[in-house]
This record gives sequence, structure tokens and C-alpha cells, in this order.
Amino acid sequence: MTQSDSVGRFAPSPTGDLHFGSLLAAMASFCEAHSKGALWRLRIDDIDGPRSVVGSAERIQNSLKAYGMSWHGELISQSNHSERYQRSLSSLIDTGFVFNCHCSRRQLPQGRPYPGQCRSNRLRSVDDIKEDCALRLILPATIEFDDGVQGIQRVAIADEVGDIIIWRRDKLVSYSLACAVDDALDCTEVVRGADLLSSTAAQLAIMQYLHMTPPKYSHIPVAVDANNDKLSKHSKATAIDDMDKLSTLHSAWKFLGQRPITVPDISSFWTAAASHWQLRDVPHSPRAQVSFE
Ligand SMILES: [Zn+2]
Repeated sequence: MTQSDSVGRFAPSPTGDLHFGSLLAAMASFCEAHSKGALWRLRIDDIDGPRSVVGSAERIQNSLKAYGMSWHGELISQSNHSERYQRSLSSLIDTGFVFNCHCSRRQLPQGRPYPGQCRSNRLRSVDDIKEDCALRLILPATIEFDDGVQGIQRVAIADEVGDIIIWRRDKLVSYSLACAVDDALDCTEVVRGADLLSSTAAQLAIMQYLHMTPPKYSHIPVAVDANNDKLSKHSKATAIDDMDKLSTLHSAWKFLGQRPITVPDISSFWTAAASHWQLRDVPHSPRAQVSFE
């Protein structure tokens, strides 16, 4: 594969505005792609109609542009990919590891993996899909992968995650299946937050079942405040559009462990960032404390 075949991506869900945590994922994926001469694409993960916020996809694009980040080609929307998700569902059913689950949320243990009580309802074909059921997939016991930032990961997904939903009761594709299929088919590099490490393990299992080549994964630390609380609870998490953009970029750059760069404006920030970026300098921890410039 030549460098020009490499593709990175940023894939926000349109459930709110761009916040500092998502700016970190955008910056890290952008710099990793640009430092290698790879393409950087923007994909809106808008399959969850009920959770989507009207106007959010446009506001995310406007924020990225205001922060000086442009993406290659057309905006990609998962809502246009329903055919590939349907095909992947059929292939997963062919493996014999998909089952109908009629459990309601109330019947399931809170905060623990699915206990597997519907596993006997395995499907032989799409004709076996029941109207009022979600479809779950039985995962292998463990998944191992070499993360570009966090190192070797061994995730006991059967215990930690359980049988994941691949198709929802409301007949929408699940985030796990949609994300796995799109990342395998369209990307070679995925850089995102370490809160998604176990999701990555589940998505790698889906790619294995589908005989798809996985992208290279790198998980950056999740930003926390001085009390070790996720930044999403913080006022700074919500309003990056109102913050001074160049100093916010410098705060993100510093959080990502990169050596200081001195630049006069946003466009020269990105030119310097692409040439100075070192993935190996990103902190090798799932969480890290942020301090704003
Ligand atoms: Zn069930």
C-alpha cells in the first residue's frame, strides 16, 4: 500500500456541538493523517436518528472550519450506507453467532454485560429475524490488538462487553456494526479516544467474522479535570466555539504530549503541527489531566 492509499477519519455523532474532547480526537487523527500524507475524511455517524440533534452536523462542520481543519472529499454520512449494513448483517447471520434477544432494558442487569439468556434463539437466515427483538452477536472470549498509543491490548470482551447488539429492536443498525463496517471498508487509520477501547475490541471481532481487514487503531487519552472527572461535565467541554481558537489549539496540542510550536495564526499552526506531530509522544494512558493555556 502506498501512502496515498492511507485514509484517516474523524467520525463525530451529530448529538451536540464539537467540544474539547472531540477536538482532541479531531486534532490527533488530522495530524496523524497529514504527517503521513494520508487523506483525512469527515464522517457523520448519524444512524441513530432518535438521538441526532437537528443542525448539529452543520455546526460540527462549521466549528472544524473555524478551527482551520478541512477534510478531503465529500462529507460522508452513515445514513447513506444502509445497503452495506444490511449485507454485513446477512453475512454475520451466516456465521451462526447471531440471536434474537427479546429482553427489554428493564430485564437486563444495569451496568453489567448481557447475561446471555436468549442465546438459544440463534438465527439461520434473515427470515428468522423476529419483529420485537434486537439482534445480538456472540463475541469471542478475548481480542488482542496492538494500539498505536496504548500498546498491546488484551480485552476479555465476552466478560467485559458481552453479546453486543448489532441490530436494534427499532430496526436500526447498531453503532458497533455500522462503525466496524465503515472503518474496515473506508479507513486505514483510526485515531480516537481511549473511552472506546472496549468498543474497538468488539468492532475488531465483527471485522473478524466478516473477514474484513481492520484499520490501525490508536487511542488517545480521555481528558479529565483536576478531580479526575471527564471533561464533558466541565464548562470548558461545551463551548469551544466561544474560546480563543489559537490558544485552544495550543492547549489540545500540549495535552497530546507534543513539543511546543510557536506560530502567529491558525493556518500556520496546522502547517507546523503536520510536520512536528509525533504519535509516540501522546501520553500512553487512558486518561490525562488537561490544563488550558
Ligand atoms: Zn435477551
